[in-house]
Amino acid sequence: MSVPFRLEPFSFRAEPLDTAALQRELRDDSCGGFAVFEGWVRNHNEGHAVTRLEYEAFVELAEKEGARIVAEAQARFGVTRAACVHRVGSLAIGDVAVWVGVSAAHRDEAFRACRFIIDEVKHRVPIWKKEHYVNGDSGWVNCERCAAPAAHEHEHGHAHTHEAPAPALPAPDYSRQMALREVGPGGQARLRGASVLVVGAGGLGVPVLQYLAGAGVGRLGIVDGDKLEPSNLHRQTWYALADCGREKASLAAARVRALNPEVRTDAHTLRLDAGNAERLVADYDLVLDCSDNFSTKFLLNDVALRTGKPVLFASVYQYEGQLQLVTGDENAACLRCVWPQATRDGLVGNCAEAGVLGPVPGVFGSLQALEALKYLLGLPGLAANEMLIFDLVTLSAQRLRARRAADCVAHGVGRAAAPALAPEALEIQFASLPDAIAAGYTLVDVRDTRERDAEPMPAPSLHLPMSKLLTAAPTLDAAVHYLLVCASGKRSGAAADLLRSQGLETCRSLRGGLKGLKAPA
Ligand SMILES: [Zn+2]
Repeated sequence: MSVPFRLEPFSFRAEPLDTAALQRELRDDSCGGFAVFEGWVRNHNEGHAVTRLEYEAFVELAEKEGARIVAEAQARFGVTRAACVHRVGSLAIGDVAVWVGVSAAHRDEAFRACRFIIDEVKHRVPIWKKEHYVNGDSGWVNCERCAAPAAHEHEHGHAHTHEAPAPALPAPDYSRQMALREVGPGGQARLRGASVLVVGAGGLGVPVLQYLAGAGVGRLGIVDGDKLEPSNLHRQTWYALADCGREKASLAAARVRALNPEVRTDAHTLRLDAGNAERLVADYDLVLDCSDNFSTKFLLNDVALRTGKPVLFASVYQYEGQLQLVTGDENAACLRCVWPQATRDGLVGNCAEAGVLGPVPGVFGSLQALEALKYLLGLPGLAANEMLIFDLVTLSAQRLRARRAADCVAHGVGRAAAPALAPEALEIQFASLPDAIAAGYTLVDVRDTRERDAEPMPAPSLHLPMSKLLTAAPTLDAAVHYLLVCASGKRSGAAADLLRSQGLETCRSLRGGLKGLKAPA
């Protein structure tokens, strides 16, 4: 052959395969191992004498998915070169139907990658085959006969499992969203060209991934280091009990592909940390924080400020949650502007500690998906300097202005001009709560309702649980001296700091909390 052909990672051929030529394409002198798999057309199947075969494929989708599988194998096993070639059309007995070749430095990764590719191709690529039998009969394997009536099945006298999906997988159809004037073909193309990194495939991440995949967002990255647990399922209803113990990132990626095979998925089974965050985020247009912990949120916040990559945050606490967009704009508020002290562990509970009803993260994940689509489509939505707070008990929503704090450490400016308050200035100690009232303070209990019921305050007080602080701040009077009280003084210290950042500069925290009153210093 005078023109050397360039072997694609995954391709279809209508003509018989020249396996020697394919092997030469993958030859690499740096490799010590070459593994090959050939799937042959055999002369029988389930007791029937087969005369020939036909293969059909959903070529456009199959080529994309096949190329993805080969790339995954290369990344996963570190092999040098790999390719898979599949026949379509009419095949004779003895023909090679599918060929996989892998070159690697060593034999072990070559074998493993080869095995991986053939298994994944069998399960993920939309290819189906029709067998022709000696008696002139024919059938789509694992499909037509499974769907046939029981009498037909009895006649063939076989039992089998239905492992392949129905053959003619329909193409994704975006007509219902494209009918919107704001979307149309142009908007759909924008979504197809977009990439979104979803950090967390749990209560928020599940609705986010479902809607973004359904909408045809071109590429979805999924970061989650956890395995599915039975206690997740009441709010993560995309998964099944049978999935428990498996890694959520790959489970979610499989669900996305089943929902919409046109969406490219990158499953990252890891926890986002300072060492990998910037690299992961760099590869996407938009980042959605669907995590349930403050360390991940603040890490993403800082990456957004450093790199200018927009991050849309959603946080849920019991029946309430909020959305905030951080764009990295120097003049717009960031998460640390709003929550200067919340990084301390244990100040705000996650779902495991605080409890949550399943639809609550469902609502906020849906809102987050909606804001993400609006952002990608260039529609008006949540601005960079505001927060949406939604209380799902009272069903009241508020759009609050998020103030850019002059002393925010994350922005890295203004620190010298406005040093952070020393903790001493925030805290004050009293022998008893009546003493505090006598000194002119209005008591504010920041514990949650359960704690307050279990241990009532020994003096008259307002009740303002941590989860309500932000929404309540505008209703408090800056002229009143508030003394915030919690069990140990830890949460009330953070609450006082937060309220001060909202303009309530005289509020203070009871040092040692209620415990401190019982145990005299
Ligand atoms: Zn800030």
